Amino acid sequence: MKVRLFEIFTSVEGEGILYGTKTLFVRLAGCPFTCFYCDTKESLPLNSGTEYTIEEANELIDTNLQDQTYKVNFTGGDPLIQHEAVAQLAKHIQNKNIPTYLESSCFDIDRFNHVLPFMDIVKIEFKTKDSDFVDSEHYEKLIGHTMKCLESSVKSKKTTYIKIVVSSKTQLDEFKKLIDEIFNNILKENINGFVIQPTYGISEPSLDLLLNLYDVVFPYYIDVKVVPQLHKFIGAP
Ligand code: SF4
Repeated sequence: MKVRLFEIFTSVEGEGILYGTKTLFVRLAGCPFTCFYCDTKESLPLNSGTEYTIEEANELIDTNLQDQTYKVNFTGGDPLIQHEAVAQLAKHIQNKNIPTYLESSCFDIDRFNHVLPFMDIVKIEFKTKDSDFVDSEHYEKLIGHTMKCLESSVKSKKTTYIKIVVSSKTQLDEFKKLIDEIFNNILKENINGFVIQPTYGISEPSLDLLLNLYDVVFPYYIDVKVVPQLHKFIGAP
């Protein structure tokens, strides 16, 4: 089996509930989606990065893995594009007793379930309609897959949290609809966090909008947090 890696590096986690932790990022090549705020556009082509055998990729991971690393993130692109390879690499990390972490838009429940046994922490990212993730015709179908991934992660008792990127284009009524749907499907006790992440450098949301979005989530999940991408403030990748 082969895998295309775009890059591998150690940095400070700048997103989500584990911001500030020393993390090895394994960035997989390839993502077919079109979020307008995507900050990893160079890794979107399926033929970007470098191709390795699984053994070569595991060696690369071992070489780059520093002492005191808190977790290893599988990111992209979208790591579910190469789900079979990701499962193999994550298994290799788990054998070292280092937590594995999945960052994905969770667009396919079958691919998700294939990697899930090898993940300890799962960030479920719901895309808003105005993200341009996909066209409006395919949006509901993809959100349906993300919802199933959320349910599957919770059922498997993984450390699971939700992230939603918001921008000045985010519509409050659409956002509310999405939040209603999420909490109709899961119990608040079963997730470990809920992060609203403002876009950075492009169509940034106003503070008023952020507070309005926060107010939508709060009645369902009192520990909701607005967390910007902190790594951008310290110039980290
Ligand atoms: S799903 Fe992620 S990697 Fe793909 S276009 Fe959207 S932001 Fe970029």
